[in-house]
Amino acid sequence: MTATTTTVTPATGTAAVRVRGARRAFDGRVVLAGADLDIAPGEFVALLGASGSGKSTLLRAVAGLDRGATGQFRVPDRRAIVFQEHRLMPWSRVWRNVTLGVRGPGLRSRALHALTEVGLAARADAWPRTLSGGESQRVALARALVRTPELLLLDEPFGALDALTRIKAQALVAKLWTEHRPAVLLVTHDVEEALLLADRALVLRDGRIAEEFVVDVPRPRALDNPRLLTLRRAL
Ligand code: ADP
Ligand code: MG
Repeated sequence: MTATTTTVTPATGTAAVRVRGARRAFDGRVVLAGADLDIAPGEFVALLGASGSGKSTLLRAVAGLDRGATGQFRVPDRRAIVFQEHRLMPWSRVWRNVTLGVRGPGLRSRALHALTEVGLAARADAWPRTLSGGESQRVALARALVRTPELLLLDEPFGALDALTRIKAQALVAKLWTEHRPAVLLVTHDVEEALLLADRALVLRDGRIAEEFVVDVPRPRALDNPRLLTLRRAL
């Protein structure tokens, strides 16, 4: 690989996230071809794109998890990420999973507080294997919340859930965002999910943000909203 530079500095000023010229190739195949991305503080942005278009690659680069990505990345230090799989540690009880890697006093009470926000305080001492898929994702959300993130990165967090559980989890994310107002980058291939939740929907294509749709619809939103139906046809 040729010499490249990656700059990761804390976001300052008016942007929560500012990415310029994000590039990533795997074995010579270019996935990110100089993508730019801006997210304002407290803004909810959905990133759409076909399967394999590089959504997760861009999210991982923003998260600072991909040392092979290059470009300028200004992102908050306080960020948290939720993947499609919950990634809970099976050998730790639920509350310990929530505070894994968190330092400081009062960890259990902080975990309980976060678990209360996702409606799972009663399962604090349970083992992860005893949870349903939807509950596990809520624990993953609590694990993100306990870090009081300025930026919440969500990579298809509802993708593995059945339809009804997914709708509930979407409503929970909407509630948590309203109450805490982190900047959010939600990767999804579900257009309706993007339109229900986000302030803006971006479309990743050919390694760049190719389209942007402002979802200027007040919350709470319903999918039969005429404006959403128009946006959905455009997407
Ligand atoms: P999306 O999330 O939009 O479905 P990804 O970002 O996961 O897409 O992947 C984009 C492309 O990059 C895919 O073709 C995928 O196979 C490839 N890719 C992603 N990660 C790796 C990796 N670690 N090694 C090789 N190829 C990868
Ligand atoms: Mg993906």
